[in-house]
Amino acid sequence: MPMRFLAIGECMVEFSPTPSGTYAVGFAGDTFNTAWYARQLTDTEKLDVGYLSAVGDDALSGQLTDFIEAAGIRPLMARVPGAAPGMYMIFLSEGERSFQYWRSQSAARHLADDLTALETAGEGDLLYFSGITVAILAEAARDRLLAALQAAAGRGAEIVFDPNLRPRLWPASDEMCRWTMKAASVAGIVLPSFEDEACHFKDTDEAATAARYLANGARLVVVKNGAGPILVRGADGDSFQYQPEPASTVVDTTAAGDSFNAAFLVEYMERARTREAVRAGCALAAHVIGSRGALVPVTRMDLIVCR
Ligand code: ADP
Repeated sequence: MPMRFLAIGECMVEFSPTPSGTYAVGFAGDTFNTAWYARQLTDTEKLDVGYLSAVGDDALSGQLTDFIEAAGIRPLMARVPGAAPGMYMIFLSEGERSFQYWRSQSAARHLADDLTALETAGEGDLLYFSGITVAILAEAARDRLLAALQAAAGRGAEIVFDPNLRPRLWPASDEMCRWTMKAASVAGIVLPSFEDEACHFKDTDEAATAARYLANGARLVVVKNGAGPILVRGADGDSFQYQPEPASTVVDTTAAGDSFNAAFLVEYMERARTREAVRAGCALAAHVIGSRGALVPVTRMDLIVCR
């Protein structure tokens, strides 16, 4: 039986500008990007990668589901009649990218209406979600999702959470912080990014971020910090810093954290060696920020070359 990596969240339709002035249609979203990279790095016999979300019954929902399936990811998608996927458009102005989103009514907001896929999760399964997954849900749906994850953790599943703080998705910062800590409390592994945490939780340094999540019940916290050193702290006393290699070219940092998480988790699931897992995360993120777009094709060989 392969191990199971199940990501939970929202995959959106992406419209990105092409050099000829037209727009290309793609599909991306934080937790989906992580599932996509996890799939790129592993064989199907070793790891079953799934994506739990919800889609509508329109043509774009069909295309999104087909894309996920074609990528080798099992779509666990409820169909919401009359709904449509969230979308975003990328604007380029003098080399700077800006984004406009249409996601307030997206079908993915109903992803917790059907959580039967989580009922069978247990030993050998990794369930991955983020602060964005939590932000897009109604309050009752958040509670349902967190309860289902907690039950899965009780059956031996590994729950992993990236806080991915996005104040624009929340009515107020204190509400975002309260739900972030509640969501993190069901996770054994938390993968925050220091810049966001410092901004919203007023952490003075990476150690403060790690200490806050450890005190909240995490077993392992990996604090990412852009080009700066990564801090790893475990409840078992495991503690080290890791300086990522300087990236040779930085073209587009979209999905740096998402790709780091994928390589870190794949390596960690296989060997449970934290330092090697952090190194793999850095190697993939460095590869991803060297090209434009959220989903940059990669093989395990690329990571060995990157190292
Ligand atoms: P997020 O995308 O969530 O904001 P970070 O910016 O903290 O995440 O970056 C995640 C990881 O990507 C870092 O831990 C590092 O490994 C890698 N990374 C990001 N920016 C750089 C950079 N300029 N040079 C090298 N590695 C980088």
